[in-house]
Amino acid sequence: MEPARNNFHFEDLLNRHHLKKTAPRLRVLSMMSARNAATSQPDLESVMNDIDRVTLYRILNAFEEKGIIHKVFDLNGTANYALCSSSCDEGHHHDEHLHFNCTQCKNVYCLDDLHLPAITLPPGFEPQGFTLYATGLCPKCSKKAVKK
Ligand SMILES: [Zn+2]
Ligand SMILES: [Zn+2]
Ligand SMILES: [Zn+2]
Repeated sequence: MEPARNNFHFEDLLNRHHLKKTAPRLRVLSMMSARNAATSQPDLESVMNDIDRVTLYRILNAFEEKGIIHKVFDLNGTANYALCSSSCDEGHHHDEHLHFNCTQCKNVYCLDDLHLPAITLPPGFEPQGFTLYATGLCPKCSKKAVKK
C-alpha cells in the first residue's frame, strides 16, 4: 500500500531522489499534496509569488524527471501536475490511472484508486505508457448542477 498523500514525508522524498532540500521545493510539494486536484504552473505562481518563474519551471521539470510528479492536461490544454504514487521512479512513471477533466471548473483529478482493465493493443504497437482521460462534472460541480 502506498502511504496517503498527506503523510508523504517530503524531506525523505527529496533525499530519496537525491535532490537538495530547498524551501521552494518543499513548498511546491506541500502545496500539491494539499489539493485534491492537479495544479498548474500558473496556480503555483499565484500562490508562491516570491519564487520566480524559471525556478518554478526547473523545480517542476526536475520533479517530473525524478518520478515525483506527473503531468496531465486540462481541457484548456494547460499542463497540470500531480504527485505520483510511490511506484514511480526516475524515468519510469506508472501513473496509468484515470484522469478526470471537469468541464465546469476545469480541474483535473487523479482517480488512482480506480482499477483499470488491462488494455491489449493490436500487434505491432508497443505502448510506453497510457494516459486515460474522462470528461464530465466533478462531485463539486455536479452537486451545483442539481441545485439549479
Ligand atoms: Zn509518475
Ligand atoms: Zn468541477
Ligand atoms: Zn494522475
